[in-house]
Amino acid sequence: MQCRTVLFLLIILSGFSVGYASDVYKKEFELFKQKHELAFDKRANPDLRALERYIHNYKQHGIFFNKLFIYLGCIAVTPDSMPILYSYIDTICKKERMKIPLIFIHPKEGFFNAAACKLAWTCGAVMVGNDVITEVDDGELEAIITHEIGHVKHNHVNKKVIANIIGMILVNNLLKAVIKDRVITARDDGSAGLTRAHLGALYGRLLASLIIGKCFERQADSFACEHGKAEGLVKFMERLIAKEKKEDKDFDDVSELLTEAFPDLNIFHYAWLSLRYYSAKWGHTVDTFLRWVYHATPVWPHPSHESRIKAAQRYID
Ligand SMILES: [Zn+2]
Repeated sequence: MQCRTVLFLLIILSGFSVGYASDVYKKEFELFKQKHELAFDKRANPDLRALERYIHNYKQHGIFFNKLFIYLGCIAVTPDSMPILYSYIDTICKKERMKIPLIFIHPKEGFFNAAACKLAWTCGAVMVGNDVITEVDDGELEAIITHEIGHVKHNHVNKKVIANIIGMILVNNLLKAVIKDRVITARDDGSAGLTRAHLGALYGRLLASLIIGKCFERQADSFACEHGKAEGLVKFMERLIAKEKKEDKDFDDVSELLTEAFPDLNIFHYAWLSLRYYSAKWGHTVDTFLRWVYHATPVWPHPSHESRIKAAQRYID
């Protein structure tokens, strides 16, 4: 059987298998990693690793994003590299009558996130972290990628850029009426320090963020839900909540362990371990507070996990 026929059959069959098996994409990614060991082999010469990615990515895509994503060490999802995942993305984009954005996987372990960008008239790009592919199941991955395609479809980055420019012009003109001096503070050497334009840029962007609020993220979630990915989205959000709860529990467990070990440790070891524990705990408390601010205020884009679950559940009920 010819290679193309096998590939075609694989893609057709994958459409059915995705519904039954839950780790198809994970297996496909592992298979790709095995086939391209050099690109993932930490012991291999970095130049050869880069060349492997270079050749692979250039097979499919144009220059600008390739340069950027190769610089970041990413692998492109193409009909060659991950045909099943590519076929899913192709289906969504065909339904939406849009060009397929460039989809890249960031191979760095510990990278558990995804992002999308579409500047001006480009087809856009989506980057998915290595850990997203290896940790989540197929339904969740489809939800995440569809959410990111939603950002591309609705031109969120372009709209953000326009909102920022309008915000900066508005605030700058407002400041001109209030602050007469162009330079607010000067450096010791006489050069300009803080200027009215700096404040205009800062508060203009803040104004744009306040106006956009969490609309774009909600719209991208709705996009994924309209494509039947509400359950995957809910499961992914529940996974994020569980991860955060586990972090809290880990700190409680270590605290208990430290108390239990106190009689067996000499005072210096105990003091050193306690110092490390409380500095880590302080960092965790700050992170938790910032996460709350991030979710509760309109300045930051993502709504809370709970409210995203609630919104997605409307599509399931
Ligand atoms: Zn998003």
